[in-house]
Amino acid sequence: MGQKSIGANTGDVPADLEADLAAFGGPEIGHLFAERFSEFINEDSTPKSLRKARELTLAIGEFGSLSSSAPLEAILLPYLLTDVLPLVIIESSKMRDNAMLLSERETINVWDKMMVPVQGGQFKVAADGASRETVDHLDALTGPTAETLRQEAQNYRKANVTFQSQGAKFLTSTINANTGADIVSAPVIAAQPKLVAATISLWREVLIYLDETLESQRTSTLRAVALAGMTGGAIILIAFGIGIALVRALADRTQREFEELGFHDPLTGLPNRRGLLKALRNMSQAGTKQAAALIVFDIRQFRKINHRHGDQSGDAILRAFAGDLTMLAEPDDFISRTGGSEFVLVRPAVKNTQQFESYVKKALKMLSKERRIDDQDTIIDVHAGLCLNKSGRSLTEETLTDATLALRAAKQKGPKELATFTSAMRALFESNADTAKELLPALQNGEILPWFQPQVDIHTGAIVGAEALARWVEKDQVRFPGAFLPAAEDAGYMDLVETAIREKVLALATTLNEVSAANIHLGLNLSASILGQENVADEIYNKIVSLGLKPANFSLEILEAVMLDEAGALPVKKNIARLSELGFYIELDDFGTGHSSISSLRDLKVDRVKIDRSFVSGVDTNPALQKFTSALINLAKSLDISVLAEGVETEGERLWLKANGCDVIQGFLISKAVPEDQIIEMILRQSQLRSGTTAQAVGA
Ligand code: C2E
Ligand code: CA
Ligand code: CA
Repeated sequence: MGQKSIGANTGDVPADLEADLAAFGGPEIGHLFAERFSEFINEDSTPKSLRKARELTLAIGEFGSLSSSAPLEAILLPYLLTDVLPLVIIESSKMRDNAMLLSERETINVWDKMMVPVQGGQFKVAADGASRETVDHLDALTGPTAETLRQEAQNYRKANVTFQSQGAKFLTSTINANTGADIVSAPVIAAQPKLVAATISLWREVLIYLDETLESQRTSTLRAVALAGMTGGAIILIAFGIGIALVRALADRTQREFEELGFHDPLTGLPNRRGLLKALRNMSQAGTKQAAALIVFDIRQFRKINHRHGDQSGDAILRAFAGDLTMLAEPDDFISRTGGSEFVLVRPAVKNTQQFESYVKKALKMLSKERRIDDQDTIIDVHAGLCLNKSGRSLTEETLTDATLALRAAKQKGPKELATFTSAMRALFESNADTAKELLPALQNGEILPWFQPQVDIHTGAIVGAEALARWVEKDQVRFPGAFLPAAEDAGYMDLVETAIREKVLALATTLNEVSAANIHLGLNLSASILGQENVADEIYNKIVSLGLKPANFSLEILEAVMLDEAGALPVKKNIARLSELGFYIELDDFGTGHSSISSLRDLKVDRVKIDRSFVSGVDTNPALQKFTSALINLAKSLDISVLAEGVETEGERLWLKANGCDVIQGFLISKAVPEDQIIEMILRQSQLRSGTTAQAVGA
């Protein structure tokens, strides 16, 4: 057997070895060492001799550490010898082998793109560890061979740096490659023997140094030990050659399994969500000492792009996006497509948090670039959620959830935004989940209902409308929308909430029809999720008509952001147009906070704008605000759109608004939102006053 002949080079176990060692390190150690040595020399099977070599070097380590004459630094050296340096050789051989194999491939598959970075990462960990240990231990050493040892360490580090930098190029080229020809493999192959040679000489010098410090008269024994150590290394290499073939066969099989098991996304060739979860599990088993990060990227308005340009263009964008992300990824990164337009990048080791954050921002900008679709430049807005784990906390499925929570926060911030996960996000998510759980029974018990805030004509003070605002009324506790609508939105209950509100609003409209001749507009807030549903316009219309009510008596309040936001815009726009066509009164809510233009107001057939409270509050005393608010009013007026001011709290504000062309006001100055019976009462009182002699009106 090959390895036997190498082992045999060292000869049989020297007869006096055990006695020598026993005199030196005690009978137990002497015996243990001699036994290991003999087992190693006489072992025929490759894998077993590999194990014996490890045991032998381990025994050297114990020998060094137990010998009372060894200095402290020397005691640490065996660790370098047994654990750290052999790993460098193993991992560099893997990299070299990968390079040779890949350079012959006609196509480069996703498995290669995943496996090569993983192995590159293992090599880096081994090589960096070895460099660090070497520096840590060698500087303190003294004695005649310490200088040579340092020189060897220097050589090792140089070879290591060369190999690592070639390795990095190799990894990047593999990720970008389509065929083996695209891969920069030659320098990695060329640099590896140098690294191995440098590692082995360092290894030998360490042994020689140990030998020297242990006692010069034991030279002959320890030389045998040194030889054994080197032989062990040679055997590791040979065994590794066989191992590599096995690993490769395994890799091929695993790739097939990987594809069969559905761990990858056929469209982009990246691992999918399952693939990512599997990788995260593997990573967390491996553990980490460094900080690690996970970023979720999402393409904004992707549904709209698909709608507008067709599925093929959508697919092309996803593929291009995957390509760009691959380019941006670093060798150790793991990337995957986890859903529709959602991609995840995992960075297993983050050295510098600040640098990393600026990397993410740069990546976001790069990914958000203009892309050509159907010969048209289209802006792709990307946002991202980042979760950064402190050192020692490995990435898990929970990290993915956290980053997704951060992504949601980024979505709320706007296009091209990045948000970093904070524990407050999780707390909010959990409390929303709790609230959502209580929400269903509350809906069933009729606890979710509208209160109504009157809207009055600014000139006459007559109530012309009332906005329905959702309330959660439990015995004597009233909860406001801010406390439960976000939870409803998260849980997908918005539809249920708004249907419940709508039914009660329609009931009130029927009552008002019976008791009052006044033509009151009831305002309904429509959420983006409702407006995103097909046919919702006709459903609402049919319901209203079936009750004998008129669409013109209902104001549909749509947030400026929702009206203009293109997210899933097609159904939203279609629904708004249809609602307007069916005769509903369309109101643009929170006007001024979005980016309405003249053309959007006209195209969307807005009947009235509701100026947001932030432009009303204090307007009578703030000249800068006055300019802005009157510009808003004038913009609407120039298009014949009626103007309502929200959140009017003072008489001063009312007077200013009246003087500046506002038509209707709503706010605490008139009344807060009140329960149904009270709004009926207010309206009735008004009609009685009307029919009476004093034409005094509410709030005027
Ligand atoms: P919004 O549509 O802008 O409603 C106006 C909010 O301002 C209401 O808060 C109202 O009580 C408050 N408000 C009115 N006048 C004044 C005032 O003079 N001063 C101050 N400080 N506040 C005033 P509320 O009821 O808490 O509702 C908050 C938001 O929740 C609403 O803002 C609306 O976006 C949402 N919302 C309420 N009900 C529904 C609903 O049924 N469906 C949907 N989609 N959203 C709803
Ligand atoms: Ca509103
Ligand atoms: Ca509003």
